[in-house]
Amino acid sequence: MNSNPAADAARLAFLLGELRLPTIKHLWPDLAAQSDKDGWPAARFLAALAEHELAERERRRIERHLLEARLPIGKTFDNFDFSAVPTISKAHITALASGNAWIETGANCLAFGPPGVGKSHLAAAIGRALIEAGFRVLFARTTDLVQRLQIARQDLSLEAAITKLDRYHLLILDDISYVTKDQAETSVLFELISRRYEHRSILITANQAFGDWNKIFPDQAMTLAAVDRLVHHATILEMNVESYRRRVAIERKRAPGRPAARQTSKASS
Ligand code: ADP
Ligand code: MG
Repeated sequence: MNSNPAADAARLAFLLGELRLPTIKHLWPDLAAQSDKDGWPAARFLAALAEHELAERERRRIERHLLEARLPIGKTFDNFDFSAVPTISKAHITALASGNAWIETGANCLAFGPPGVGKSHLAAAIGRALIEAGFRVLFARTTDLVQRLQIARQDLSLEAAITKLDRYHLLILDDISYVTKDQAETSVLFELISRRYEHRSILITANQAFGDWNKIFPDQAMTLAAVDRLVHHATILEMNVESYRRRVAIERKRAPGRPAARQTSKASS
């Protein structure tokens, strides 16, 4: 058979474009050259191309999911100091971040502690790890989300808005204690919690454990019902430690004295 390499290459570029295989389209000339040079069997060549396409697809998917998640930037496990929060164990958090046991059953996670102890940081780090493990996550300030859902309710599209959130395996509701029932009518939050119960996970951060939650929901019965659903299958992270922010600020103030102190101790030894 006649072969015309230039025509084949042009045709292949077109076909791979139609098939939506951009990575193979990009890589095949180099891989084909290597395959010809090293005498690869055809199956090996084809498998190598397919593997590249798949790996690139996976990378792009994670990139998309990181973008849609709206995680606060730069809050990862790499820069989280676990020694500052002795009430939680790194091994436990690492297990949570793999997602398997809880995300697949729609269980929840609740992180409690005063401001500045790293609740949002930890939630964001868990979210990022879950996305890298293949799950979809949305990080939201609870007050913002409640506001969005209320607008949807006014438009008679609350049901659709809540359904849209089903695509996220994990919804991170940051700072739920900042929602107040007088700020607006917050049964939308209750509807969201009920809908996700035993179906899709929620990670909540809050300054207050449940004691104060009747400020969040319209009445006590609803507060009890919401708490009941949230804690039925939940991991609770108690982070009652000193504010990391404050600790860092205090250390920074002390810092100028440090080099001198070190010099003194060196001189004396
Ligand atoms: P919270 O949500 O509990 O109020 P944040 O997560 O916003 O606290 O933490 C406050 C600041 O301190 C952030 O910049 C965060 O990155 C940092 N931070 C808090 N705890 C830690 C920690 N254990 N290791 C590293 N940085 C931390
Ligand atoms: Mg926070």
